[in-house]
Amino acid sequence: MSLPAEFRALVVSKSASGIEAKLEALAMRELPAGDVLIQVAFSSLNYKDALAATGNPGIVKKFPHVPGVDAAGVVAASNSPDWQPGQGVLVTGFDLGANHWGGYAEFIRVPAHWVVRLPRGLTLRESMILGTAGFTAGQSVRALITHGIEPSGGEVVVTGASGGVGSVAVAILARLGYNVTAVSGKPTAHEFLKSLGAKQIVSRDEVDDRSGKPLLAARWSGSVDTVGGNTLSTILRATKTRGCVTACGLVGGNELQLTVFPFILRGVSLVGIDSVSCPMAERLDIWSHLADDWKPARLEAIATEIGLEDLAHYVQEILAGHITGRVIVRPK
Ligand code: NDP
Repeated sequence: MSLPAEFRALVVSKSASGIEAKLEALAMRELPAGDVLIQVAFSSLNYKDALAATGNPGIVKKFPHVPGVDAAGVVAASNSPDWQPGQGVLVTGFDLGANHWGGYAEFIRVPAHWVVRLPRGLTLRESMILGTAGFTAGQSVRALITHGIEPSGGEVVVTGASGGVGSVAVAILARLGYNVTAVSGKPTAHEFLKSLGAKQIVSRDEVDDRSGKPLLAARWSGSVDTVGGNTLSTILRATKTRGCVTACGLVGGNELQLTVFPFILRGVSLVGIDSVSCPMAERLDIWSHLADDWKPARLEAIATEIGLEDLAHYVQEILAGHITGRVIVRPK
């Protein structure tokens, strides 16, 4: 492949007038050091990307910055014996789009050990409809299975269900035969959630208990929580004996008010989900399931495709909690 001298990217800069994100042409030599140069076919929009695109200091430590925690594309050049030009690959997590320039660009250059071969059973496009959100949903489902939560155990609950992680979690759990209750604040998303396989849909209020009771009536055998805060607290207090709750998100708050009673009287497990540092063996296992027996049946139905120039609008939409499903980004 003959390489261009420049590539397009969404660049976030900081100046006296504040944070600004705009499309720029960058020289190829400005890409960070790395073993593998990848021509990006698709990236995606995750909540963390919106934080990075608005210069959140928790994510972006150095400016100028190119966000995008996900990228799928084709190897354009490689210094690593593990990767050859022309191979279809994807990268999610590690430091991509955080301390390292990310996927909102026509090219990324990354360390060889971040790269995952595109699994058989997924196209580049499908891998980014899943992206970090889908991977995180997969990691959460894997944790429920590992903790012995079976479809016969009763209702499992997914919060933030119409969002990226939530919608993929609903689809995977439904495909595996679980009785899924989706929690959503969007009345307009009910049909969408039913089409993904949710059996029950409840409002956010139903998992926002303010009574202060240490335990609530036991309802859930398992949970994929993407919201955090009092939602996570409510779900933990309403989880059945030996149930399992996964926690990946904080859109509803980063604090957790709780007693130890769910743990010591009901044996409930709380599992933290961190997609960024997921070890490679577990990562490959999750991707191989996502490409096969966990692959949501209607993957295209949850996708909205945008270009780099549309990101400013969609970043505000995801920050406001307005996105339904997954947004994929085509850099060209
Ligand atoms: P999305 O914005 O796509 O989805 C979040 C959903 O949560 C919204 O669609 C909405 O769903 C619901 N929601 C939004 N605001 C609130 C609120 N104030 N109270 C209750 N519910 C709310 O984000 P993602 O799915 O990409 O990410 C979800 C969370 O998971 C984020 O906090 C993100 O940072 C985290 N995350 C963590 C990862 C990890 O490795 N730990 C990896 C990926 C994501 P509805 O309207 O249906 O209720």
